[in-house]
Amino acid sequence: MASIKQGLFLMILLLLSIFRSSQGKGFTKPRYPYIKKASSFSSVPGEAYDYIIVGGGTAGCPLAATLSHKFKVLLLERGGSPYGNRNISRLQNFHISLADTSPSSPSQAFISTDGVINARARVLGGGTCINAGFYTRASPSYVNAASWDGQLVNESYPWVEKRIVYWPNVAPWQAALRDGLLEAGVSPFNGYTFDHIYGTKVGGTIFDRRGFRHTAADLLAAGNPNNLRVLLRASVQKIVFDTQGRRPKAVAVQFKDENGRQHQAVLEEGAGGGDVILSAGAIGSPQLLLLSGIGPKHDLEKLRIPVVLHNQHVGKGMSDNPMNSIFIPTKKPVRQSLIQTVGITKMGTFIEASSGFSQSSDSIQCHHGILSAEIGQLSAIPPAQRSLEAAQKYARNKQNLPREAFRGGFILEKIDGPLSTGELSLLNTDVDCSPAVTFNYFSHPYDLKRCVHGIRTIEKIVRTKHIAKLSGADEYPMEVLLNMSVKANLNLVPKHTNDTASIQQFCRDTVITIWHYHGGCHVGKVVDNDYRVMGVAGLRVIDGSTFVNSPGTNPQATVMMMGRYMGVKILRERLGRAAAV
Ligand code: FAD
Repeated sequence: MASIKQGLFLMILLLLSIFRSSQGKGFTKPRYPYIKKASSFSSVPGEAYDYIIVGGGTAGCPLAATLSHKFKVLLLERGGSPYGNRNISRLQNFHISLADTSPSSPSQAFISTDGVINARARVLGGGTCINAGFYTRASPSYVNAASWDGQLVNESYPWVEKRIVYWPNVAPWQAALRDGLLEAGVSPFNGYTFDHIYGTKVGGTIFDRRGFRHTAADLLAAGNPNNLRVLLRASVQKIVFDTQGRRPKAVAVQFKDENGRQHQAVLEEGAGGGDVILSAGAIGSPQLLLLSGIGPKHDLEKLRIPVVLHNQHVGKGMSDNPMNSIFIPTKKPVRQSLIQTVGITKMGTFIEASSGFSQSSDSIQCHHGILSAEIGQLSAIPPAQRSLEAAQKYARNKQNLPREAFRGGFILEKIDGPLSTGELSLLNTDVDCSPAVTFNYFSHPYDLKRCVHGIRTIEKIVRTKHIAKLSGADEYPMEVLLNMSVKANLNLVPKHTNDTASIQQFCRDTVITIWHYHGGCHVGKVVDNDYRVMGVAGLRVIDGSTFVNSPGTNPQATVMMMGRYMGVKILRERLGRAAAV
């Protein structure tokens, strides 16, 4: 069933992308001399690395930069360069990059078995190249629960912030949300802050005031270029283990370059040696452990993967924070904005907003994914009738829709720490094919209760004069807004006639993702407190796959912080505090 849905979705996306096909320029000349194509790698006998990091993403880049100060580091990234790609660098192209389904796209679409359309980063800089840019730290209680060293955490966040984080130029839609939140009782106003505190705040962003995106790839410039080698379009297929000793030891990785040629990169041998470090993200890291023979024995044997270590927890505890959004049309075009304001409620519901991502003539020809005001044209068709012809008709009709249909913004709510969890399992042994992922959205009743609370809070915000001022309507009845939101929603979950009569049903049927999925390699189950993979030597996982809960309202700050933090910690372990950076 899942694969039929997946096939249909990809077919539709492919068709729609004809109208606005790949915006990505693919592989452009790297800005930094240490960034090279994977095909430039040649296995010289004796050439080895102290650390091999798999995944040049949100955690992988700051980690590689930090370790390169004292050690020889190889960073292998399956995607291309973010530099020179306007879909990455410009805020106004946020949605176009997500809609790009070409093989060189920085975003790889996948659909969870729940029927929710999702995306994985595939580019140097990872999620920071395709995300909405909002930057906010984790709470002190999150840091305590993770058993992190508070002082080092407080040094690691600013290391990121001084390089790539800005205060936003608050857009009218975001100012209206701020004022609406306060009037609806989500108070106090905490001003501009990175801190995670109850009430309403304006957070940081990785877009500067010109709308230019800064990414984790920029953090590589803080490394030592003489010790750092970054290979693009290097798709790692598996970790190689030496199984002769007391326990398996990671000694190398196998990867293929942009021409499909195979290579093997090896770790330096010797006392106090380094590690292979997986920073391939919440889908990529558990997938690579499984492909390398670490995971539930039974599942590995079904795919004839030689078992290196049985661990039933690999790929388990996958969570995604469900998001539901309310579309509010406006009479005049609204300024484009991604998340700048956030309301943090005591019930564990976060309220955020975006605006204006459909209305430019450039955008009207393009598929907008979940941010489409007009996408209901397609999602209104019952799933059984969604066909290639229906999709073609949709694409034709879209060109003829009145411009007003594209004007408006979303207020969205996401729940913190979902209690509903799921799992990830391999569909095959091809690393380029995303595994099957199930999140079981709202299977826990408390998650549903929090969604209802979130939608009720949005209802209060919509009733305030601040939103009415922008929408041009005195007040929209909630039922009208819910109806429009059902139409504006794009997922493959079957819709019901009582979608707007029951908020519970609305939550279930219009659930989408805010792309904060995490888990699969939990601390205490797959990795220990030092992020070493339990039961094997020379292997760590450092990224969002280790999280039981997503930190702060939005995770990227803490994932980048973690890359820097773990880099410093590893240097201190090997060199002592004084000798580390
Ligand atoms: P990633 O950054 O995804 O890094 C993993 C890297 O590994 C990728 O570059 C990938 O190509 C590479 N890789 C995977 N497999 C392999 C392999 N086999 N070989 C080689 N390389 C491999 N968070 C916020 O805080 N604020 C926001 O506003 C926000 N908005 C978001 C919007 C979108 C559309 C998305 C997708 C995410 C958003 N997030 C946001 C979430 C945040 O960006 C992610 O949680 C975070 O980037 C995850 O970091 P990571 O290091 O775990 O994984």
